[in-house]
Parts: sequence; C-alpha cells; structure tokens
Amino acid sequence: MQDQIRILKQQALNDLQQVDNTESLPGWFRDYLGKKGAVTALLKQLGTVAAEERPQVGKAINDLKTELQDSFDSLQERLRQQKMEKEIASDSIDVTLPGRPFPTGHLHLTTQTLRKIYQIFAEMGFQVYEAPDVETDAYNFQALNIPEYHPARDMWDTFWVNKEVVLRTHTSPGQIRAMKEFGPEPIRVILPGKCYRYEQITPRSEHQFYQVEGLVLGHKIRMTDLIGVMNEFARKMYGSERKTRIRGSYFPFTEPSIEIDMDCILCAGEGCRVCKYTSWLEVAGAGMVHPVVLKNGGYDPDVWSGFAFGMGVERPAMLKHGIRDIRYFYGNNLQFLQQF
Ligand SMILES: [Zn+2]
Repeated sequence: MQDQIRILKQQALNDLQQVDNTESLPGWFRDYLGKKGAVTALLKQLGTVAAEERPQVGKAINDLKTELQDSFDSLQERLRQQKMEKEIASDSIDVTLPGRPFPTGHLHLTTQTLRKIYQIFAEMGFQVYEAPDVETDAYNFQALNIPEYHPARDMWDTFWVNKEVVLRTHTSPGQIRAMKEFGPEPIRVILPGKCYRYEQITPRSEHQFYQVEGLVLGHKIRMTDLIGVMNEFARKMYGSERKTRIRGSYFPFTEPSIEIDMDCILCAGEGCRVCKYTSWLEVAGAGMVHPVVLKNGGYDPDVWSGFAFGMGVERPAMLKHGIRDIRYFYGNNLQFLQQF
C-alpha cells in the first residue's frame, strides 16, 4: 500500500507538471482528487489494510491528498496570474474601467427620523425607554385614567387579542411601565415604538405607525418646562426660525392638556393645502401628567409633578419630504425607499 501511495504521488505530480493552462486544470483534479479520482479510490481500499497498519496508511493517504491539493492550488494561482498578465499585455481588457458598484442599503426613512428625534432629546438629557407592543388592557387604558366605561375609549379603535390583551393603541402605557421600574425617582425618558389601530387604511392613516412619547417627572415640574422642551424640539427638528403656539386640548391622562403647533414649514404663514390654510402644523399633544396616572404609577401627586407628550414619526418625515401617502412607509417599494 505504501508503495502504491508513493507511485501515485509521483505520477500525479508529473501529470501536474504537464498542465500549462487553466483549461486543463479541472481534468487533472477529476483524475486525482475528484470523487472518482485515484486518491479517493485509495481511501476506499483502506478497509482491506491490516488493522495495525491502518492508522499509518490512512495518515499517508491524507498527507498525499493535502500535498496534491496544495500543489494544485499554487499552480492554479500561477496560471491565472499568467493568463491575466497576458490579457493585460495584449490589451484585451481595459484596466482603467471603473469597477461595478456594490449595491449598499441604508436606514429606512422611519429609522432615520427616529434617530434624529432620539438625538435631539438626548441632548436634553432624555433616555430611550422601550415598552412592549402587546399590552394589557390595564396598562393601555385603565392605568392611564381610561376606565372601561370611559367615553375616551372611543378615541382608539383597538386590535383586541382577547378580553385583557391588546396591541397597544399608543405608546402611553410605557409611561406606567417606566414609572413602576424607576419610581419614585425623577424620570426623563422618551418612549418610541409602533402603535396599532383597527382603522381603515388611507393615504393619511395606517393601521400601524410610530409614535414617540415623552415623560418627565420630578419636583416642581411645570407647564413652562414642557413648553420649553417642545420649543427646543421644534427648532432643532424643523429649523431655528420656527414659531410655536399652544392650544388647550383634552387627553384622559394629562391635566391640563395642550396641543403644540408650529408655523407651517411649507408656506411660512401664507397658508397652503398641507396646513389646511391655517398656517399652523401640529407638532405634538401634551400636558401635565394627571394625578390619577401619577398614583397608578406609584408617585404621590402631592410630592411629584411632571409632563408628558406624544408625537407621530411618519408625519414629520412626510412633511419634510412632501410624501403624500403614509402607506409608502410600509410598502417595501425600493423606488420609494432609495430616495431617502
Ligand atoms: Zn402651509
């Protein structure tokens, strides 16, 4: 057997020496190292070798295999090199031609917008707090001062998983979770994430969309703090020249509640279709955290106060880029995505 290995090695290397072009390489490989090649055939005979010699013979065959493979690889490399040099010399390939560009991906427009929002709030000392998409009725409604009989429940058409479990209709349940996790200590968080509503899909509304909620709790936190934070946000997000205004509003989990508007970024006060000729665009809904919500989160409303706000994510991106249909965000259409 050892003789057989030696002879085969000699023969294989001799044959390899005769190979002088890349086209003949596969033939040699098939004859010696392929599935039906001579080395594989030797390995198959290993069973006939006496048991005490078998480890030694097996090792010899494997060494042969490795050596032949190495010789083959280096010859292949050398021949390819030669072929390329010949082609360059004969001018048949143009080495000055630019390479083919690799198609690279980039972040989704929603992610880009979210990260911009994170950055602005991070500069004001906010941390990102993530809460689950699947919520209980208790967190999504009850703890936020929306009991079962409360008419405000009509504001959200809800995907019910069962009687107690819902796909969250807003990011607000994260407020309660943050309070229970960190409290009673000062809090400054934003709560980004997807929300779900069981409603008809139109160019202006999807059944899923992103929101970013904010929550600040501490001692002597006042409405002026809220307005200051919102002004700072509007100016960093939409431009330092932005003007804002506040209007009274209603949410079950804040008291008092407000809406923050800014002057229309498209028409600069002239009035246009996007601002519905009012010259104002809504930035966020907000308010001072309702005492009942504070209590539900484990904070004593006589000692603690704070504010909360919530805003859309797709909507600002739509405004900024003049996107007319929210459905594009979830359509996986590359022609849309590659523009941003
Ligand atoms: Zn306008």
